[in-house]
Amino acid sequence: MSQEKQEGAKVLHVFTNVISQPVKESTLPEEVPSRTWMYWQMFRAVAKKVSRSPFSLHTFAALRRTMLANFLPDNLATRYKAYQRGECNRCGLCCKIQFQCPFFVDEGPFNTHCSIYTSPHAPNACLKFPLDPLDLKLLQREIGNACTFYYEGKPQRLSAFEFVKLYTQGVRQQLAKRKLKEAPDSGD
Ligand code: SF4
Ligand code: SF4
Repeated sequence: MSQEKQEGAKVLHVFTNVISQPVKESTLPEEVPSRTWMYWQMFRAVAKKVSRSPFSLHTFAALRRTMLANFLPDNLATRYKAYQRGECNRCGLCCKIQFQCPFFVDEGPFNTHCSIYTSPHAPNACLKFPLDPLDLKLLQREIGNACTFYYEGKPQRLSAFEFVKLYTQGVRQQLAKRKLKEAPDSGD
């Protein structure tokens, strides 16, 4: 039973993005007054998004990105990265669709930043944007094509079998990496 539980925990552990690791108080960014405030803001932002979902293609796009960023192993989530071009110009438009994200900091034109981006609390959906051309297209639709990322080329199309094979490999690789990270120091 306890082994079963451990196995279950390992599987969940792959999706670190969904079930975040406990984070020390000292890792809170200075713009974030407390964890309670941060989680409350996250909850409110998600609730606002969900409440708009019946009327918004953007919510579908955000939900799609969240699901893919959290549930795809890295080998699949990063398939399009080799074809991604351009750099973020810090316009901040992607953080102000529908409503302004509570973690968005505006210090002038093209001088914006995310207060939690470099912290362990940053949403994977934000860290991994853009995931693929459809992800970028759905965002560009909302901000008048102002985002400076673009794609040149695309990876080979995957069959269902290849997808499942890569998914399994990716999950195994992530489990192995995590196991290595968690292994106690050998003392060398
Ligand atoms: S819209 Fe694109 S360029 Fe502008 S801040 Fe977001 S990712 Fe960067
Ligand atoms: S990058 Fe930061 S500020 Fe922008 S939407 Fe994501 S959490 Fe909010």
